Amino acid sequence: PYEVLVVGGGPAGAAAAIYTARKGFRTGIAAERMGGQVQDTMGIENFISVPYTEGPKLAGALEQHVKEYEIDSMNLLRAEKLIPATQLGGMHEVVFSNGASLKARSVILTTGARWRNLGVPGEAEYRNKGVAYCPHCDGPLFKGKRVAVIGGGNSGVEAAIDLANIVGHVTLIEYDSKLRADQVLVDKLRSMKNVDILVSAQSTEVLGDGEKVSALTYKNRETGEDHKLSLEGIFVQIGLVPNTEFLQDTGLELNRGEIVIDGHCATNLPGVFAAGDATTTPYKQIIIAMGEGSKAALSAFDYLIRNEPV
Ligand code: FAD
Repeated sequence: PYEVLVVGGGPAGAAAAIYTARKGFRTGIAAERMGGQVQDTMGIENFISVPYTEGPKLAGALEQHVKEYEIDSMNLLRAEKLIPATQLGGMHEVVFSNGASLKARSVILTTGARWRNLGVPGEAEYRNKGVAYCPHCDGPLFKGKRVAVIGGGNSGVEAAIDLANIVGHVTLIEYDSKLRADQVLVDKLRSMKNVDILVSAQSTEVLGDGEKVSALTYKNRETGEDHKLSLEGIFVQIGLVPNTEFLQDTGLELNRGEIVIDGHCATNLPGVFAAGDATTTPYKQIIIAMGEGSKAALSAFDYLIRNEPV
C-alpha cells in the first residue's frame, strides 16, 4: 500500500506526486495517459518563465521530473471506482479497469477534464489548426483575425469579450434562440463594436484548405437557410466535462461533475484530496493545475502526520 496514491498524470498529478515524494512518503501515480491534456496541446506561451514550449515536450518533462524521485509511476491504468476509508486514518482503495486495485492512506484525485466537442465534420481535422478551445491559451494567436466563438453560455460570452479585445472580429454563435449568459456579460458583449451575435444558429461544418481553417458553415434554425462565415479561428465553448464519472456514488461531493474542494484542496472525504481541472477550482490552466497539485500534496502530508494509521 501507498501512503499517497495520485490518480491522474497531468500537470496536477505530476506536481502532487513530486511534492509528496519530496516529503519521503511512499508515493504512487496511476494515470490513463501520462501528460493528460498537455499531450494534445501545440504551442504553450503562458507557462510562466518559459516563453514558448510545446505540449508533448512539456509532458515529457513532467514524466522526467517524476522519474527523478522514488515514485511508482503506472501508465495506462484507468480508475473505475474509489472505495473510501471507513474510518479516519484508514485505507482508501482505488479499483482499475484491468481489475487491479491499489490502497493508500491518502488519495489525490487529478483526473482532469475534457472539452466538449461540437462533433461536426472538420472539427477534429482542424484542431490546433484554427479550431481552439481555450481563449486564454490561444487568443493571442488570432491577433487581428476573424474568429467565431461557438456557445452562448457564460464561458462563450466571456470568451467573446476577451477575444474581441485581441482579434479583429468575433462572431458569437448560439444554437438556442437566446444567449444563456449573465445579463451583465451579454450587455458588455453587445456594447463591443467588432462583435456580431447570431442566435438559433447550428454550426454544421469546419472548412479549411487542408492546412488551416478558412470558414465555418451554419444553418439558421428558424429559416433553414445555410450560411458560410469566412474566418481564421473557431473557439468551441460548449462546456468542459470533468473526468469524474467514476467518482459518482462514492460519497464524494461533486458539483456539476466537478470535485468540490476547499482552499486546501480537501474534499468532503477525510484523506481524499483533489486538484486541477477535475475540481471546482476556477480557471483551468497548466500553471494553476500544478500549483493546486502541489497544494493537495502538502495537505495530504498535513493529514498523514495528524492521523495515525488504523
Ligand atoms: P489533465 O491534464 O486533464 O490530466 C488528467 C489526467 O488524469 C490524465 O493523465 C488522464 O489520463 C488521467 N485520467 C483521467 N481519467 C482517469 C481515470 N478514470 N483513471 C486514471 N486516470 C485518469 N493550459 C495552459 O495553461 N496553457 C495552454 O496553452 C493550454 N492549451 C491547451 C490546449 C488544449 C488543446 C487543451 C485541451 C488544453 C489546454 N490547456 C492549456 C489547459 C491545460 O491543458 C489544463 O488546464 C491542464 O492540463 C489541467 O491539468 P490536470 O492535471 O488537472 O488535468
